[in-house]
Amino acid sequence: MNYADQPGWQSETMTIASLESSAPGPTEGAAGRRVIPADDVRILLVDDKKDLLESLYQLVTLHGYQATRALGGQAALDALAADAYDVVLLDLIMPGVSGHDVLDFIAREQIDTKVIVVSGDASFSGVKHALHCGAFDFVKKPYEAAELIATMETALRQVRLENENQDMGAQLRASEELHRFIVNSSPDLVYMLDRNGCFTFLNDRLGPMLGFDKTELLSRHYTELVDAEYLDVAANVFSERRTGTRAARNVELKLRSSLKRMGTRFTDVQSVWVELTAQGVYTDPRERNRQTFVGTFGTIRDISERKEAQEVINFQAYHDLLTHLPNRALLKDRLELAITQGQRNKIRLAVMFLDLDRFKVVNDTLGHTMGDRLLKAVANRLQSCLRRGDTLSRFGGDEFTLLLPEVRTRDDVVVIAGKILDRLGSPFVIDGHELFVGASIGIAMYPEAGDSAEALIQNADIAMYHIKSRGKNGYQFFTDEMNHRFSTRLTLEREVRNGMARGEFEVYYQPQVCLASGRITGVEALVRWRHPERGMLGPAEFLPLAEETGLIIQLDEYVQRQAFADVAEWERSGVANVRLSVNVSAQQLEKEGFVEQIVGAMRTAGLKPHRVKLEITENTLMQDMEVIIPKLKQLRALGACVAIDDFGTGYSSLSYLRQFPINTLKIDRSFVCDIREEEVDGGASIINAIVAMARGLKLDLIAEGVENNTQLTYLKSQGCSEVQGYIFSEPLPARDVCQMLRDEPFANIVVTEPVAAAS
Ligand code: C2E
Ligand code: CA
Ligand code: CA
Repeated sequence: MNYADQPGWQSETMTIASLESSAPGPTEGAAGRRVIPADDVRILLVDDKKDLLESLYQLVTLHGYQATRALGGQAALDALAADAYDVVLLDLIMPGVSGHDVLDFIAREQIDTKVIVVSGDASFSGVKHALHCGAFDFVKKPYEAAELIATMETALRQVRLENENQDMGAQLRASEELHRFIVNSSPDLVYMLDRNGCFTFLNDRLGPMLGFDKTELLSRHYTELVDAEYLDVAANVFSERRTGTRAARNVELKLRSSLKRMGTRFTDVQSVWVELTAQGVYTDPRERNRQTFVGTFGTIRDISERKEAQEVINFQAYHDLLTHLPNRALLKDRLELAITQGQRNKIRLAVMFLDLDRFKVVNDTLGHTMGDRLLKAVANRLQSCLRRGDTLSRFGGDEFTLLLPEVRTRDDVVVIAGKILDRLGSPFVIDGHELFVGASIGIAMYPEAGDSAEALIQNADIAMYHIKSRGKNGYQFFTDEMNHRFSTRLTLEREVRNGMARGEFEVYYQPQVCLASGRITGVEALVRWRHPERGMLGPAEFLPLAEETGLIIQLDEYVQRQAFADVAEWERSGVANVRLSVNVSAQQLEKEGFVEQIVGAMRTAGLKPHRVKLEITENTLMQDMEVIIPKLKQLRALGACVAIDDFGTGYSSLSYLRQFPINTLKIDRSFVCDIREEEVDGGASIINAIVAMARGLKLDLIAEGVENNTQLTYLKSQGCSEVQGYIFSEPLPARDVCQMLRDEPFANIVVTEPVAAAS
């Protein structure tokens, strides 16, 4: 074959580069653009004649293609088994494994390649057989170089087309899958309606969101899915013709759902809050008219959680979460409204401020869970006292406020207050505990006690504080005089601080008398406030607030310092050696460094610890036992005594009492008060129990609030050895009690006859 005939084959000295640029066919198409990236093409050349194979190789590589040579049929099979080829130039007649065998192999192994038979065997049957066996084309030997290359490139072009086609199909399939995936995994329900409003498409969210099957809804009208109340809204959205940013967005409405929601039966059809978008779809987006309109497309988002959260937030903003009663804010709203109506219709209204008397005790001793349950129970009982239109609200803590928007007279209010006190008077039984809570109720009437919501609430609060300081459990109307006392708790707090700085607080002492000897064995220190404007104030008027604000700690320390100094002085001056009882508040007791502080104060005053008795209320003791017990043990080890004050009013059990390092039980005033000649059993039965308990635990007993002989006689008969009360003396200033200690005036009062003889 004459290579010089071939284009670009004039000289063997031509460089590859110049060959490439001068050869038009192989790598560039008619339009001059590369049709086949020659590097990617793999060509297998098969011939059993070495020189022919070489010349074929030269020809092909000179046209810029890579080629692999296989000398003979077997080499061809090996090559085909090992690698993939786009085109095979195959000699037919070869010894051993022939070209036909190679074709058979390709067919059998389903090898994807284009075979161009290059053979001198031009007989019709050979060619026919070859083409039949899947050969792509046929070039007769000796070949024209141009014809061979052209045939080869046709085959290559075909390969490329097929490849591209395949790729495109795969891409199409992938992209369709992707879109389907995106649409179906959208968190929103995607829908499409036809021009009549019937569903033509719904994505997979339908089931999880609304509980329906696609088949139930496809080709059904959208109204079947919409909650009856929202059909109008839906009509507006689903007939959306606009597109783009002007289309309907975030329209909220309710759809029907067959899903089971909280607290419903499965068969109930429920409503779900959704947010909807819709836009018109047109065959030609530029020509939007009735003819091109095909329907509506949009998304539906489940917003039921957000809606519920919103409802909860709205509720929370205006209600107390524990009792579900209206809160301060809602009460104020309603009160303002009631005032406006009152003004217009010339009617009166009443605001009651109610504070539970013994809630703190329950909360501190039995825990918050119990406290919460009690509050709910109280709320329920209160509600049962009200009429329609009245508002009961929880103000916080154990404070409730009542708005009675229509009352004619004070007497109406008195009746309701009485009813409330009566209802709260009977015990609450929670978890086997019998809980007693009284209430103090302050009442402010519109218009005389104020004409704004703030004023009425504040004045009711002031009236409540008034009743609380007068012994609790009762009601009190606000009067103008009260305002001159403590206008607000805030001013009271400020005044306590100032009073302490100015030394307005004084310590009074009440004697404690031994019933066997009639001698004063001890005194209890009780604080008083000599207020510059309001005169002498008892602890009830300022202690609750001092406790609330934490000022109680300073106050206690102040009283104790003073009392230690007084008693040490009496001792030094030879007046008497008495034991001093001081009251210790929960906050003082729990404070870190309490023991060091109080022992330091004794040392400063020069008073021995065994002269001191700490009075701690039963409820304080129960609060934080792990903290309190070690402190009390330390003080006991130093010689100080510990008494449980107000014993019998708390909820301590015998098993608890055993753990406390105590010396004395102090029987609460209220039980002593109940001792009457006629019915010695009322409070007396409790006293019997306390006496028995003290004996069992080997504790001393002292009774407080003893006012008359009946009580004294009874207590003595029960084996109570010591008493304190008005029968002997009220609390007195230091100077007066000092005189009393000198005089020892009680020996003649002491009763020796047992009460049994009297009755
Ligand atoms: P308390 O410790 O139970 O004190 C006894 C209270 O009963 C005193 O009231 C006393 O004046 C009163 N009382 C005494 N004898 C009789 C009587 O025969 N009949 C009646 N009806 N009452 C009698 P006071 O002084 O008003 O003290 C009230 C409470 O204030 C005390 O109750 C005590 O818990 C507390 N308190 C007083 N001073 C202090 C103090 O310095 N620190 C602390 N933390 N609390 C104090
Ligand atoms: Ca006391
Ligand atoms: Ca007491």
